[in-house]
Amino acid sequence: MMPPKFASSVTRALGVDRVQDLVDLSLRAQELTATVGDEWCTEFWVAPMTPAQAEGWRRSAIELRETWSFVNLKSGGVLAVDEVPDHALSQPVAAVTYPALLSQLCAWWLFHAWRGADLVTDAVSGIASWRLTTAPLAARALIEQVGCLLHECRSLFNAWADAKAGRAGSAARAEMVRSKMTPVLVKTSMGTRISGSPERLQAPNVLTYVKRLEKMTGEKRYSKWYDWLSDASHPAFAARIASSSEAMVHETGALAFRFVAKGPLSSAPLDNTGKAIADRIRPQFNEVAAHIADSTAAAAKTYFEALIQARQLVDDFAITTRAGALTQRHLWPAPLPARTGHPCPCGCNRRDGGIHRWGQPTPVLNLLGS
Ligand SMILES: [Zn+2]
Repeated sequence: MMPPKFASSVTRALGVDRVQDLVDLSLRAQELTATVGDEWCTEFWVAPMTPAQAEGWRRSAIELRETWSFVNLKSGGVLAVDEVPDHALSQPVAAVTYPALLSQLCAWWLFHAWRGADLVTDAVSGIASWRLTTAPLAARALIEQVGCLLHECRSLFNAWADAKAGRAGSAARAEMVRSKMTPVLVKTSMGTRISGSPERLQAPNVLTYVKRLEKMTGEKRYSKWYDWLSDASHPAFAARIASSSEAMVHETGALAFRFVAKGPLSSAPLDNTGKAIADRIRPQFNEVAAHIADSTAAAAKTYFEALIQARQLVDDFAITTRAGALTQRHLWPAPLPARTGHPCPCGCNRRDGGIHRWGQPTPVLNLLGS
């Protein structure tokens, strides 16, 4: 890991405690990237066919020597999936349902892990080298990303809690899990703000994410931070003052002036040779830099906390449904139940299956300040 290098002038401007906090968060983000940056998974979706299509394809699959599982739905449609391992052919309902949903959950979690870690790393690196042109972009995107993570977590945690509580037989349960999880996963995976997109795929306005972040963390400064960072991301007022001192007015009122410089500004009395007295240098307050540093620190902490809990949700789904054993496609993360007497791979350390059984409680999203 490479700790971001803060110049002494930047440390003086931001304060030692702020800088240490940001260094720690950047290292944590880099560690996350080192852990999951090379992981990958397949994301796939199962859509109903008509009975006639399914029958035709069943014959073709046999001729092609492909292994498929088929399930007739009460609605009249047929679900089918390939890449089913031999030992799972006796569980067609589970095989057409759980691996696809888990694959979407895996892709969802990796998306947030990769993007969040990149944004934390870049926001901290930007402020460390006082790049007040691009650092606000990363800091603002981090707020959006973490707000989105919380918004989607809320929907997915609720959907999984409803789905897992069902005590129905395996076919009815699979149907319920699919009906609860699919609409949420479709929206998280394909939601967009591009005009003309179908209503069911329209993603929330980004301000919804900012409000969600404020509400779920109790941190009321996100809206203000977001406004400032947006202004600094455009060639607007905040971008102009990011590289200038506060304006000063001559005592006559006849003129006003300010200093403009790319680096952090500071002031100091001069000695009799006209040089600044080093131990009396005082940094000038830079509102844009302060908002980048404070919002990045707050959002990054919530991000790591929520991402760990999101992983508990994915792992609980994977272990409860045993989805990873029902497909030959590559899914990650997709832990399977531990062998008898071994500790659970999700990290809960239980040796008896713990909560990872139908009807047991699901993980709960619980953030500091909420
Ligand atoms: Zn566990």
